[in-house]
Formats: sequence, C-alpha cells, structure tokens
Amino acid sequence: MISENQIVVVGGGIAGLCAAIAARHLGASVHLLDNSPAALRGGNARHARNFRVVHSEPTQFAPDRYQAAEFLAELDSVTGGGSDHTLAERLVAGSETLVPWLMANGVAMQPPSLGVVPYSRRTVFPLGGGKAMINALYRTAAALGIAVSNDANVSALHECTSGWTVEIDAPDGKTSAIEARTVIICAGSPGADPEWLHRHHGAAGDGLVIRGTPYADGRLLEQLFAMGASAVGDPTASHMVAVDARGPRFDGGIVTRITAIPYGMVVDASGARIDAVGAGQEPTHYARWGPRIAACERQTAYLILDADGLQRAAPQAFAPIEAASVSALAATLGLESAALETAVASFNATPPAGARPLTCTPFAAYPMRAGITFVHHGVAVDDRLRVVWTDGRCKDTLFAAGMIMAANVLRRGYLAGLGLTLAAVFGRLAGEEAARHVVR
Ligand SMILES: Cc1cc2nc3c(=O)[nH]c(=O)nc-3n(C[C@H](O)[C@H](O)[C@H](O)COP(=O)(O)OP(=O)(O)OC[C@H]3O[C@@H](n4cnc5c(N)ncnc54)[C@H](O)[C@@H]3O)c2cc1C
Repeated sequence: MISENQIVVVGGGIAGLCAAIAARHLGASVHLLDNSPAALRGGNARHARNFRVVHSEPTQFAPDRYQAAEFLAELDSVTGGGSDHTLAERLVAGSETLVPWLMANGVAMQPPSLGVVPYSRRTVFPLGGGKAMINALYRTAAALGIAVSNDANVSALHECTSGWTVEIDAPDGKTSAIEARTVIICAGSPGADPEWLHRHHGAAGDGLVIRGTPYADGRLLEQLFAMGASAVGDPTASHMVAVDARGPRFDGGIVTRITAIPYGMVVDASGARIDAVGAGQEPTHYARWGPRIAACERQTAYLILDADGLQRAAPQAFAPIEAASVSALAATLGLESAALETAVASFNATPPAGARPLTCTPFAAYPMRAGITFVHHGVAVDDRLRVVWTDGRCKDTLFAAGMIMAANVLRRGYLAGLGLTLAAVFGRLAGEEAARHVVR
C-alpha cells in the first residue's frame, strides 16, 4: 500500500539510516531495505572511526576550532577544485549540526579525554566506534517506527503511476515488490564486486582487495545508469590504501592496513625497490602507497624491515614474516635473493630522509596489496540530492545520498573523516528533501 511506503530508502549504511530517520522525523512513513544480513548491517560505517565536522568554537568532543572556510579550502585543495560547489557548501554547513543531530538520535560521542583516540581538531569519534553508532541508529529507527528489512536486495526500480515499484530479491531466490511514492538510494560506492573490478581494471582488478562490505556491489548503480541516470566521476579512480596481502578479500576493515612503511623499504614482486618520492613519514602515507601497489606486477609489494624498524613500528594485525638474513627472507617470500640484496644495499647507501638503514637482524616483511576504500564514481545529483538524468532533468521522487553520489563533491582525493560526514550529512538532507515532497 502506497500510504505505508511513502518513502523507501535503499541501503542501511550511515547514509540510509540518516535519510530514514530524518524523513521519519518530518512525518513520512519509511521502509528501509538493506541487502546484508542483520549481523552485518551498517555498511562500511561498521569499520569507520571519525567524522570531519566544522565547529567555530571548541566543543566537548572536538578541541580548538575548525571553520567552514577551512574545510571548504581543504576540500578544494584535495579535489583540485573538482567539486560541485553548492553541494560542497551544503556538506560543510551540514557538518556543523551533525554531532548534536546524531546525539539527539541516540549516538554517543567520545570526549578526547576519555580514551585513546588520535588528537584531532577536525574530527570527532563516536564512542565505541562505527558499529556502536550504527546499532544506536538502528535502535532509534525502530523506536520511531521505521520498517527495516535485511536480506532485501533491491534489484530494480520501475516508475509507476503512484511513484516507484521496488523489486526485491531475497537470498532464497524469492522475489517480491513494494511500492513507494519516493525512493532514496543510499547503496554505497560501487566496487565491492569482482566482476565490476575486472571490467574497469582488467586483470589488475583481480588483485585488488575490498576493505569494506561485499554487499555494496554497485549493481543498483548500473541499473540507474541503464534507466538513464547520469554518471559522475571515474570508475577507475579509487581511494586505496596498503593492506596486508594475507587479509580477507572483503571486509578486512581498518586493522589490515599497513602503517609501518616509514620504518622500512618497499619492493615489488621481483625484489626491486620501489623508490617513492613524497610517500614517506606523514600519518596517511599508506593512502599514497595504495595506488603504487595497485600498479605493481600481481598488485603485490613487500614491506622490508629490520629488527630496529619492526620494534619502532606499531604492531600490525598479522605477524611479520621473519628471517635471519636478507637472502633467507627473499627465499621465504619467493623473491629473487640477489635482487632483494641489491635493493637493501642501495637503500642502506642512501636511506630516505627520516629512515634508518636496514642492518639489525632478524629481517622482516609484510606482503601488501592495494585495498579499495571507495571509488570516485557514482550517480549525478542536483543540489537537492535528486538524481540527474542524462537529459538534465530531475524527478521529485528519486534521490541519492552517501558514497553512491560522493563523486559529485569528491572527484579525487580524500580528507580524514570525510566519508562518514558526507554520507551522514547528505543522507539527512535527502531524507528531509524527500519528506517535504511526500508529507503535506
Ligand atoms: C575500512 C574502512 C574504514 C573507514 N574509515 C572511515 C573513517 O574512519 N572515517 C570516515 O569518515 N570514513 C571512513 N570510511 C568510509 C565510510 O565508512 C563510508 O564513507 C560510509 O560508511 C559510507 O556510507 P554509505 O551509507 O554511503 O555507504 P555504505 O556504508 O556502503 O552502505 C551502503 C549500504 O547499502 C546496502 N546496499 C547496497 N546495494 C543494495 C541493494 N541493491 N539493495 C539493498 N541494499 C543495498 C549495503 O549492504 C550497505 O549496507 C571507511 C571505510 C572503510 C571501508
């Protein structure tokens, strides 16, 4: 019945939850559909740690100040000015009220004094991490009377006289359909699909790791394009980081990230040193290494450390592979011994600024791959978050929010805490825009 599904939200990550809750607060009846099982609900926010938020004065959760102009300038700088300016301004303005809004909807935030979070004047951390935040928002959704269906994969949308018919596939192969006056698509960034990766990256796509949920597979995005929605961004451009090659292909989360690169040297699968300029000591160096590793043969590289570097680096999720000599390490890794010895000798002769020669035994290695966080590609939206069609028109009944439309403001580059902020702010705005349309 239409009256029971004024708004259908597709995707139960942070964007979908914020959209559903915001729309419900404005009086809409809302049904949220998510294709993951309940135990894995929440999309990639399960792995995430912090939001980037404007605060013109210090707050309990964010020390110092972080002004809107600063946020906008940083966004401009990392994207090379490639953002939709109106959307970027809505994002930054929306970040300022995000923390109180989330708290009013059950999310607890972490004061920096309460535990081990990196000091940051730009970002705030939900207490207990992303999973705790997601659980709190699902509790609020239930209390507000939002219908939630898990294991509900939306496979197609068809326009009908009353709005949209939404087709749903269940894991047992059964299909069903519900009707909605308005749909908000929050199905995440594409890329969590080996076939999609292969199509856009060729054989190199087979060697890429997906750091987040396997359920954001991008198939609904392809459906939108087939229906005539406009694309934005580049499917071959991704935010990637160095991850341990022994981690899972999907959903390894934050812990498989390799953060020890500044303490050693990186070689490729032939044992030759990858001499990377400008990818050294800064805290986010692993994001610079992602694309470099993706460009390597077999999309594999090795971080080589000595005992001193190993001791100075923070522990990693997987134990290092250790050996008494460089040649023994090469043999264990299956690398050409002479090539690795030459690489170590050349590194030791002129170590990069801030690095130490690799001389203390035992030697150690971490095998690495490139792990995708999100793809800079999605569906075009206007400044009200309505999907834009290839003829330039928009419908008042179809919205998109979250990483599926992130490329409208983030054609390239990244800023810490931006993914969650973008998804939550645009989710909330899309929910409000959609509710204004359906609630008279
Ligand atoms: C390992 C990792 C760590 C991160 N850390 C941070 C961080 O610290 N700070 C930060 O700001 N950002 C971080 N991010 C990014 C951040 O998590 C994402 O930007 C954000 O969670 C995206 O939210 P979303 O709702 O747009 O998409 P998603 O989280 O991808 O959610 C999409 C949802 O839609 C569902 N779905 C997909 N297709 C369908 C369909 N056809 N039918 C029904 N449901 C469907 C999926 O199951 C999923 O639940 C991290 C990402 C990863 C992978």
